[in-house]
Amino acid sequence: MELCGTAEEVEKMLRQEADLTYTPMMGTFELLPLCNMSCKMCYVRQTREEMELQGRMLTCDEWLRIAEEACDKGLLYLLLTGGEPLLYPDFQRLYKGVSQMGVILEINTNGTLIDEKMADFLDENGVRKLNITLYGKDNVTYAKLCNNPDGFTQVMRAARLLKERNILFRFNCSLTPDNVDQLPELQKIADSLGVDLAAEEYMFPAVRRGKNARNQYRLTAEQAVREKIYTYRAYNAQEAREKLADLERPPRLKGLSGFSCHAGHCAFSVNWMGEVLPCGLLSAPKISALEYSFDKCWNYIVDACKKLPECQKCMECDKQNVCQVCPAMCYAEAGSTAGCPDYVCQMTEHMITELTKIIENDAAVGKML
Ligand code: SF4
Ligand code: SF4
Ligand code: SF4
Repeated sequence: MELCGTAEEVEKMLRQEADLTYTPMMGTFELLPLCNMSCKMCYVRQTREEMELQGRMLTCDEWLRIAEEACDKGLLYLLLTGGEPLLYPDFQRLYKGVSQMGVILEINTNGTLIDEKMADFLDENGVRKLNITLYGKDNVTYAKLCNNPDGFTQVMRAARLLKERNILFRFNCSLTPDNVDQLPELQKIADSLGVDLAAEEYMFPAVRRGKNARNQYRLTAEQAVREKIYTYRAYNAQEAREKLADLERPPRLKGLSGFSCHAGHCAFSVNWMGEVLPCGLLSAPKISALEYSFDKCWNYIVDACKKLPECQKCMECDKQNVCQVCPAMCYAEAGSTAGCPDYVCQMTEHMITELTKIIENDAAVGKML
């Protein structure tokens, strides 16, 4: 394989090659389920008591052993996440240890714990990028949605400290009933700092929080789609036509496991209990990296992904090319990768309806001119 081009192009080529050769090039370590915030829509957060009923966090040496074994298999990019990963007790030793293996690191964080010391640490130890979730435009929203009345101030402090050190970060935003009307203001905040903002309108059900999970807290399927189409992506008529033209293209779900992403091909996730999974949003198949070598775990995941039962309705669906369905959504929404996720179906129906309206309105305006 010849490597030339920008860093992004080289990375894309590496990913394609890794996909074909089932090389676990991209990993995620979910260090802990604990968090200093408590967001209404969170699918992972647990209290310490809830966590201890289920298991224990891995030690730093256990994580380093898994990372080393994953490196031997080809790990190159690692995302540290949680809960809030900066709360992991041995975060700095773990970070340095993995970094010294030559792994390129990113961090998902809520940003509230980044003070001068942490910003200096990241600056000194090199981080590829931080993905900071921006939950609202002010402390009132953070109090309501995240149970942290100082959250906005803390995130803005983090943004300032990172900018001062030229550390790359971007904002992610989870759209919920509490902040959905704030997207334009959140975009302005991102623009004023010169960073990207990626909004996500689909919220996974909090299945991992079990019986203690709050009721599902998310937009209706219609609200989510309208937000994407009219505010976040702001489709014009040409883009709407192009999107709907996807319906005529060959179906994207090709059978086998139904994975059209990198999970189980070149990507894996390890949850806070040391279980290896194809992706952090899918609760099965899984195998313990505390009981088996990473090599054995990866081979198991690759094989199990190929055998995952798939949703027949999705496989035969003529709307699949405009639908964002994936095995993790089937599992989370319907309890099995073979189940059909009603909420996702509703989103797709609304998407087609709204895109059609944009095209029809455009044609009507054209006739009037
Ligand atoms: S900051 Fe993230 S991990 Fe923490 S409670 Fe909110 S959504 Fe969950
Ligand atoms: S989730 Fe529904 S709309 Fe999407 S592919 Fe499956 S059946 Fe079709
Ligand atoms: S959430 Fe879905 S699309 Fe994303 S990695 Fe997991 S299975 Fe793939």
